[in-house]
Amino acid sequence: MIQAPKGTYDVLPPDAARRELLLGHAARILGAAGYERIETPAFEATELFARGVGEATDIVQKEMYSFDDGGGRSLTLRPEGTAPVCRAYIEHGMHKLPPPVKLWYLSSFFRAENPQKGRYRQFWQVGAEVIGADGPETDAELIVLLAELLEAMGVKGTRLRLASLGTPETRVEYRQELTAYLRAHESELSEEVRARIDLNPMRAFDASDAGTRRVMEAAPKLLERLAPDDAEHFATVRALLDAAGVAYELDPTLVRGLDYYTRTLFEFTSDALGAQSGVGGGGRYDRLIEQLGGQRTAGIGWAAGLERILLAAPEQPVMSRVVDLLVVGGDRDSRPVALAAFEVAREARRAGLAAQLELTGRSLKSALKHADRLGARYVAIVHDGEHASLKDMESGEQKELTTAAVIPEVLRGSRLT
Ligand code: AMP
Repeated sequence: MIQAPKGTYDVLPPDAARRELLLGHAARILGAAGYERIETPAFEATELFARGVGEATDIVQKEMYSFDDGGGRSLTLRPEGTAPVCRAYIEHGMHKLPPPVKLWYLSSFFRAENPQKGRYRQFWQVGAEVIGADGPETDAELIVLLAELLEAMGVKGTRLRLASLGTPETRVEYRQELTAYLRAHESELSEEVRARIDLNPMRAFDASDAGTRRVMEAAPKLLERLAPDDAEHFATVRALLDAAGVAYELDPTLVRGLDYYTRTLFEFTSDALGAQSGVGGGGRYDRLIEQLGGQRTAGIGWAAGLERILLAAPEQPVMSRVVDLLVVGGDRDSRPVALAAFEVAREARRAGLAAQLELTGRSLKSALKHADRLGARYVAIVHDGEHASLKDMESGEQKELTTAAVIPEVLRGSRLT
């Protein structure tokens, strides 16, 4: 038996309905705030992620599905959505549009991670990006929109962690300070952290071993080193969130796995999830567009994992399918009957009814049983090109009609109920 690759899963019909629900909430909440849908290709030039996500990140170093396309080009299945959206923004000259450009997506992403509950190799993210607005209201609005989406989906036990990374210049200085601090405590750090002191000292805050954690508790924090205008920006973001009643915890150690962030950084977690507790997060990336070859343009965005949202949300009652009419051809071997039955089902759908055609050649008795299973309101049994019986499955009543009278009769009946 051939099985789906490790870390992937099939979306079977019962799951599809909950995904549709998320899509609907995202379209409604983001659409009302002026965000428009964008979709980019499933694969991109590898260089986009190397430049856009950062060479030193885990994503680029370990998790990308990269391949040669046979023409000497290295392509990569997209591991995240922000770099592709910024690539599209530049490529299509969207800087000429009245700013800001507000976009959202619901797409699949690919990372070669160790699969576990809530962590897959192909997963879906709903994401939003605002390009061309640098004020703190933009940050607060985006965060509020994600909070609303999680609330609409009924995600339980959410918490928001918030930080600011300042500007790259502040980070360079801070990085030197942190590196010196780590060097001074080298013997207490884990092997992995020690090996990465120069490459990415911030990642030491992510470490889980007791030794490193102890050292990091007393480490200098970036939040305490912000330049005055960055500190001011962050204070306003916080004031706006306070006013909106969105609770958050300041987390000076918040580090996310992408290198392009500046200023505001945030992450929602859910207590309803296990080890993989991150539901969604994002931050500002005021230098990314420039890094990708565009003009310097402010940007901010978030992405939230579809699977984790569904894992952390209670099962919601989804509307059960309605079947108004099941059309059964009374004589399987007769072409005129097949044509007439086919036509009745097609006409019924054109008239706005949910109509199914009996396709397996069941006997009349088992077709009626099938209609019960489907919850069909009516069954039309087509006898020849002109005559049919219409059975009301609720009352059990059966009428003899011309085939032309079937649909008006069903419409009349379904209007009455
Ligand atoms: P990131 O792009 O890493 O910041 O991830 C944003 C969100 O996407 C996370 O909070 C998760 O909800 C989701 N996510 C990231 N990686 C995976 C994965 N491998 N499987 C499932 N969801 C993921």
